[in-house]
Amino acid sequence: MKWDEFADWGRRVADWTQDYHLTVGERPVRARTEPGAILNALPATPPETPEAMEDIFRDFEDIVMPGITHWQHPRFFAYFNSNASAPSVLAEFLASAIAPQCMLWQTSPAATEMETRMMDWLRQALDLPEGFAGVIQDSASSATLAAVLTLREKALNWQGNRQGLFGQKPLRIYCSSEVHTSVDRAIWVAGIGQDNLVRIPIKGDWRGMDPDALEAAIKADLAAGRHPAGLILCVGGTGTGATDPVDRCLDVAEKYGLYTHVDAAWAGSAMICPEFRHYWSGIARADSIVFNPHKWLGVQFDCSAHFLKNPDDLVRTLAIQPEYLKTHGRDGIINYSEWSVPLGRRFRALKLWFLMRSYGMEGLRQRLRNHIAWSGALHDRLTAEPDFEMVTPPMWSLWTFRYRRDGADLDALNLRLVNAINDDGRIYLTQTRVDGALVIRFQAGQFETTEEDVGMAFDVITEIARALP
Ligand SMILES: *Cc1c(COP(=O)(O)O)cnc(C)c1O
Repeated sequence: MKWDEFADWGRRVADWTQDYHLTVGERPVRARTEPGAILNALPATPPETPEAMEDIFRDFEDIVMPGITHWQHPRFFAYFNSNASAPSVLAEFLASAIAPQCMLWQTSPAATEMETRMMDWLRQALDLPEGFAGVIQDSASSATLAAVLTLREKALNWQGNRQGLFGQKPLRIYCSSEVHTSVDRAIWVAGIGQDNLVRIPIKGDWRGMDPDALEAAIKADLAAGRHPAGLILCVGGTGTGATDPVDRCLDVAEKYGLYTHVDAAWAGSAMICPEFRHYWSGIARADSIVFNPHKWLGVQFDCSAHFLKNPDDLVRTLAIQPEYLKTHGRDGIINYSEWSVPLGRRFRALKLWFLMRSYGMEGLRQRLRNHIAWSGALHDRLTAEPDFEMVTPPMWSLWTFRYRRDGADLDALNLRLVNAINDDGRIYLTQTRVDGALVIRFQAGQFETTEEDVGMAFDVITEIARALP
């Protein structure tokens, strides 16, 4: 295909995109494909000769689309939404058209300076104090890894990258039982070892870490000759929205000199609304914070906002400067590749710029407030049904429930229920475990979701549950 044919296809793709988004609510949310069906529909060997775009596009519709689970569906209530709002999709199209690499300032000054400005807009939107500097990482997992590498390097007096961990006292990192698996993987990759990730018990409605138990664990480690190095807090855990008492945990961290990272990948977006900030009071004292605009804030994946109180620690850990990457005579400029593990970087700030300008912060706040209010109303309606048990209370727009039937194995019953709901296709839910019991999660966060969409979930859940054999 030549570039002079591009505009015609671009228009066709734009028409297709608009139509897809306007009608996606009519499709079953979860793909109904059997395992292997797509693989078998794709030729086993690559084509030797050129094929027409017409044929490629037809196969995209015929082969690919039936195997898609519709993450942009207004009744996608599973996992967390990964929104792709219209302005962010447009920006992503432009970013892919120019396809610059944003590793150094000079490899695209606009991308670097836009990133600096957009991260500061987000900082203000979250009401983080001046001085926090931000970088866009590809994912929260990468941000958490970067934070763990930084705390490792700091704890080893900046010798870890050079000498490795051989002969060192074990570094200890503390978190609750509710943190995301990305924390485990960061610990593995950083060479700290799973056995040195200490899980502190949780308590209370927020299912947050017990600060007294945290302090006791640190003291025990010190007594045993280990090296307490870091604390990873969770604000809005994936399963049930578990949230650590940030303030009290940071008191303990400061007392023992621990580096602190806060994973607010999902719930961080809600902090653009002042009324939810009590969930992370004390946050200004954290060293590192991550949240994903590519989840609830509406930015097309990928875009993970990583804030650092002292970015010099991160840069000291990750910067590497072979001659070809040096930008001589340009002191004071930012080279964001020194803030992340990968060298190459996409131009992600553009979609944040399009998004915030197109909705305005007030427009974004309104969307999140609607999701939380509608989800809360559904929770209250289901609470009034005697055969449903509410398990964890709403944390922002997320809560969990269980269907009850006398004498039934409730885990098996609820697994059958969630599968039957997803086979039905009108809504999409996922399950998790709370204190060992299988429960069903509900959360609302899709940008085009309406109050009616959330209301429909009540009918689908109750109807399918009561009809289960
Ligand atoms: C989604 C999520 C993550 C992982 O985010 P990625 O950007 O996919 O790495 C981590 N922590 C929490 C709490 C999440 O909800």
